[in-house]
Amino acid sequence: MLNETSTLTHVDELAEEMVEFLRQLVRIPTVNPPGENYADCANLIGGKLKEFGYETEFITAEGLPECSTRFPRVNVIGRKRGERAKPTLHFNGHLDVVPAGEGWTVDPFAAVVRDGRIYGRGVTDQKAGIAASIFAIEAIRRAGVELVGSVEQSATVDEESGGFAGVAYLAANGHFRREAIDYVVITEPLDYDRICLGHRGVYWFEVLTRGRTAHGSMPFLGASAIDRMARFIAKIETELKPQLKARRTRMPVEPEAARSATINVNSIFGGQPIDALQTPCVADVCRAIFDRRFLLEENFEDVRGELIEMLDRLQADDEDFRYQMNDVMIVHPTMTSPESQLVTTMAGAITSSIGRRPPLIASPGTYDQKHFARVAGIEQCIAYGPGILNLAHQPDEYCEIEHLILSCKAMALGAMRLLG
Ligand SMILES: [Zn+2]
Repeated sequence: MLNETSTLTHVDELAEEMVEFLRQLVRIPTVNPPGENYADCANLIGGKLKEFGYETEFITAEGLPECSTRFPRVNVIGRKRGERAKPTLHFNGHLDVVPAGEGWTVDPFAAVVRDGRIYGRGVTDQKAGIAASIFAIEAIRRAGVELVGSVEQSATVDEESGGFAGVAYLAANGHFRREAIDYVVITEPLDYDRICLGHRGVYWFEVLTRGRTAHGSMPFLGASAIDRMARFIAKIETELKPQLKARRTRMPVEPEAARSATINVNSIFGGQPIDALQTPCVADVCRAIFDRRFLLEENFEDVRGELIEMLDRLQADDEDFRYQMNDVMIVHPTMTSPESQLVTTMAGAITSSIGRRPPLIASPGTYDQKHFARVAGIEQCIAYGPGILNLAHQPDEYCEIEHLILSCKAMALGAMRLLG
């Protein structure tokens, strides 16, 4: 307990330095797309890790099409061995941010501090998380506490665009392995007083319908691909959506309405380009991309199968209905057990830091947990970090300095309790 008190005091002493480090991170506009300034940001983080006693490694996702000379995908990992190699606690945060967009009342990359808040694109999502985990472990060191287990920190790229050059790449190339890593805390902002256990699954698919072209004044001589797509979408509305709504998960997804399976039309295109000079033609092709979110309780093959079955029925009723369906992205749902060592320990640490028990939630959208769980095979993984979820990707995004400090304290206590 003495050690814990001393560590918390050191978090308070380090607070100003942590805020300054976070502001430096925000001032590097790591905007994705296209993936700007990743190397600069990784270098800044790597430099801080080195200063704080880590061995660092920079890994560029060579060979991936999105990794170019202009926009290299640079990740950084820091490793600090304890008295023993294991257990190992790994903190991960993504260093990319979404574009600033419109509607800001402050410069999104100036890291303005006002009324106890730091403003900037990516401050909540999720550079505050990166700063908090680095300074949490540093507070332990400055308190003179020796950990038995080891700590790793990684800052990775492209989470906002799927994480393929970031966590997925590192996991696939043996940098994140289940044999080496026991616990993962992804420092995403699902609120500083909640723990996120995992997320639903995602299935993006493309449907292409074909028809037969004809003169637009005599459409009955052709078969419109757009009409056929409209029939598929109508079936989704009238048949599938009520079924999906009735399917509920036991996962504590927030908001509650997202505890059902869902489907959304992401985009649709058919016929002639809309801005081009128009000619009277029946559309012979229509394409649409769909976003189906599925539950832990749903089997992926069934998810896809039920869509194919709907399309096949449309085809059976109409000899002009021809379709193709292609997978665009598949992410399986994942959830860490609420009874796991990581969850119970972090829940206790957050309770000690903020004075109340954190609700355990799951995310409606996905984040890099999918790659830690599915590619690296690491079972105990959560998301926990400073910041308020609803501010992510918004204009005037900010992080309360108080939340940054409270999260940092929770991470420090969690690390001490997990790693002895
Ligand atoms: Zn994020």
